Amino acid sequence: MTTVAAYAAPAAKAPLERTTIERREVGEHDVLIDIRFAGICHSDIHQATEGWGEAVFPMVPGHEIAGVVSAVGPGVTKFAVGDRVGVGCMVDSCRECENCRAGQEQYCTGGNVMTYNGVGKDGEPTYGGYSEKIVVDEHFVVRIPDGLKLDEAAPLLCAGITLYSPLKQWGAGPGKKVAVLGMGGLGHMGVKIAHALGAEVTVLSQSLRKKEDGLRLGADHYYATSDPKTFEELAGTFDLIVSTVSVALDFNAYLGLLRTGGALVNVGAPEEPVSLNLFSLIGQRKTLAGSMIGGIAETQEMLDFCAAHGLGAEIELIAATEINDAYTRVLGSDVRYRFVIDTATI
Ligand code: NAP
Ligand code: ZN
Ligand code: ZN
Repeated sequence: MTTVAAYAAPAAKAPLERTTIERREVGEHDVLIDIRFAGICHSDIHQATEGWGEAVFPMVPGHEIAGVVSAVGPGVTKFAVGDRVGVGCMVDSCRECENCRAGQEQYCTGGNVMTYNGVGKDGEPTYGGYSEKIVVDEHFVVRIPDGLKLDEAAPLLCAGITLYSPLKQWGAGPGKKVAVLGMGGLGHMGVKIAHALGAEVTVLSQSLRKKEDGLRLGADHYYATSDPKTFEELAGTFDLIVSTVSVALDFNAYLGLLRTGGALVNVGAPEEPVSLNLFSLIGQRKTLAGSMIGGIAETQEMLDFCAAHGLGAEIELIAATEINDAYTRVLGSDVRYRFVIDTATI
């Protein structure tokens, strides 16, 4: 066991504070990673506040991890000391179910192990990226291409893959009108990736205050959802809407913006249920779907795609002492567009 410094929430809703945790010895197929940067995802806040239900404390959040390999187990074949690597939301899965065998470990039916707020196969709680080091089985580690800066790559491990996967699955590309709902950590990567895939991209944000950024990142159009005229003007427009909003919305209104046969794919994970009038779907054969992160091979594909197109995240680099303030700002939709912790400050 190795003792490493970390930032943890000691209990639900309590501020995060500096502490130490134990990392397991590097096993046969394990990689020891010196974490350099860790992104702050809104999911960290949902979990640290028990907004999604009971959680494991103390909690070291963080599933947008970028770092450098500092040791490998004897059975490791994919990585060597010095490699630039990333870890996302999962650190293990059953590896036997249909979904694992298809490379969709995120939908493992045998039970996958989340990077934090989970329990590993060794029965120990998992601790995430707000820490100096992590030990992960090589199967759940991906390579960060040289073309991406490590700090700007960290958010791709969750925000990037969470948008890349549904955009690919629902065919975002040339000739398709795609709307990204919510211009936060996930949303801004959605704009960049959908634009790079060749789609015509619209941002639907609460206000126009981030409009200049949205257009700079690749959006063709930008509308405020606080303006009722938006819903009249855009009725029946989109092939695909991806919602990244962290609170429950009136999806009936957004389904009205889809053209016949269009899909609204929700990746936001609000703490409250939503209410749906099924006539919002049946009249024009519309789809309401959900999507969760992406598989490991697909995460590597996304990183390679982002490197090829020069798509890092827009980040605000912070010290570990600023984590609690950053949480407050994320809750106020006041981040441009991802807080990333410089883990050297832990
Ligand atoms: P974020 O940076 O806080 O972005 C969320 C955006 O939602 C905000 O920037 C804001 O966009 C919009 N929003 C917030 N409050 C709103 C309100 N009251 N009404 C309308 N819009 C509102 O969060 P994130 O890290 O991108 O995560 C977004 C959600 O996705 C969270 O619930 C998170 O847990 C979830 N998530 C899901 C997955 C998955 O695999 N499905 C993965 C990661 C995260 P504007 O300022 O543009 O209005
Ligand atoms: Zn996340
Ligand atoms: Zn499985």
